[in-house]
Amino acid sequence: MSWILLNPGPVNLSDRVRQSMQKTDLCHREPEYFEMQQQVREMLLQVYGLDNEKWASVIMTGSGTAAMEAMLTSMVPLDGKVLVIENGVYGERLSMIAELHGIPLSRCRGAWESPIDEAALEQQLASDPQLTHLAVVQHETTTGRLNKLEGIAEICRRQQVKMLIDAVSSFGAEHIRFDDWPVAAVAASSNKCLHGIPGLAIVIVDRQATKTACQPPRSLYLDLFGYLDKQDALGTPFTPAVPAYYALHEALLELAEQGGYQARQRRYTELGEQFRLGVESLSIKPYIAARESSCVLRAYQLPASLSYDDLHDQLKQFGFVIYAGQGNLSDKLFRISTMGEICPGDIEKLLAAFRQILQ
Ligand SMILES: *Cc1c(COP(=O)(O)O)cnc(C)c1O
Repeated sequence: MSWILLNPGPVNLSDRVRQSMQKTDLCHREPEYFEMQQQVREMLLQVYGLDNEKWASVIMTGSGTAAMEAMLTSMVPLDGKVLVIENGVYGERLSMIAELHGIPLSRCRGAWESPIDEAALEQQLASDPQLTHLAVVQHETTTGRLNKLEGIAEICRRQQVKMLIDAVSSFGAEHIRFDDWPVAAVAASSNKCLHGIPGLAIVIVDRQATKTACQPPRSLYLDLFGYLDKQDALGTPFTPAVPAYYALHEALLELAEQGGYQARQRRYTELGEQFRLGVESLSIKPYIAARESSCVLRAYQLPASLSYDDLHDQLKQFGFVIYAGQGNLSDKLFRISTMGEICPGDIEKLLAAFRQILQ
């Protein structure tokens, strides 16, 4: 049995990415590994056309949460303070990380079903001169909401704080204006919009931020700047997940050949709209409006006649894996991500399955 994965990562792989992992066993202390590591680091910058004098990519072995934790713990200095925007589970996770590490924190809580209140955010930033950073999730995968970073970036510039962006479920598919926004670091992962396998946690960091990094580091394994130094010198501090590098290398080649993140954004949007139009004709309503959603994932209200488990289990029989809501939304909605090697024919079959189940 195999499934079409409509969960927000890991994704269905293309054949070429799957086959790339069959390459030779490789020691991570040999030049062949370092060359691949360096190429992947450069290709990650190229996804957003970034200058490698100003920006650096750091790659660690771990899931997306490792990237979030490395970013927060390494970037906020001991005398710094972070304001976290919370309008979903991942925003709350950013706060939880800060709290666990004793990083001074304040929260800007927003309703999950409405956009961020920018006026309230600006007031909160303006009233606390100790704040040095703002942490925000670009695509709140909890609800599919795309937090509009343009306005938030403007506010951060005015209030002179640097942005730490969780782009784990948007890097490779949504616009991220690295050079226009006051960005200090962006967290990403190999297994979502980049179409690799799980295992690599990525942080794109402004090289200038090295100067204000947390010293001494709050973590041994997640010390971003320790990795940066070693990787710049063509080394690695710890044993990396080599097969995940093989897969990400191939996936990044594929992304570039397919037209880059803009083409991926168009493709996800087309698939997402195809599904939305199809289920709306079955009276299934979006949880938040399409214009407020990411291109990556949409959340829908569960039809009254079905529990989530019922819907999930029946769809699985048809070969599709969907995703539940998180937290108090678990009995209210279901989520459909269009990341990965999915085509319009798959969405057609998915809609046919919905029609049969709802009849
Ligand atoms: C998936 C995701 C993460 C990381 O989750 P992991 O399970 O650690 O990979 C972080 N932030 C967002 C917004 C995500 O969607």
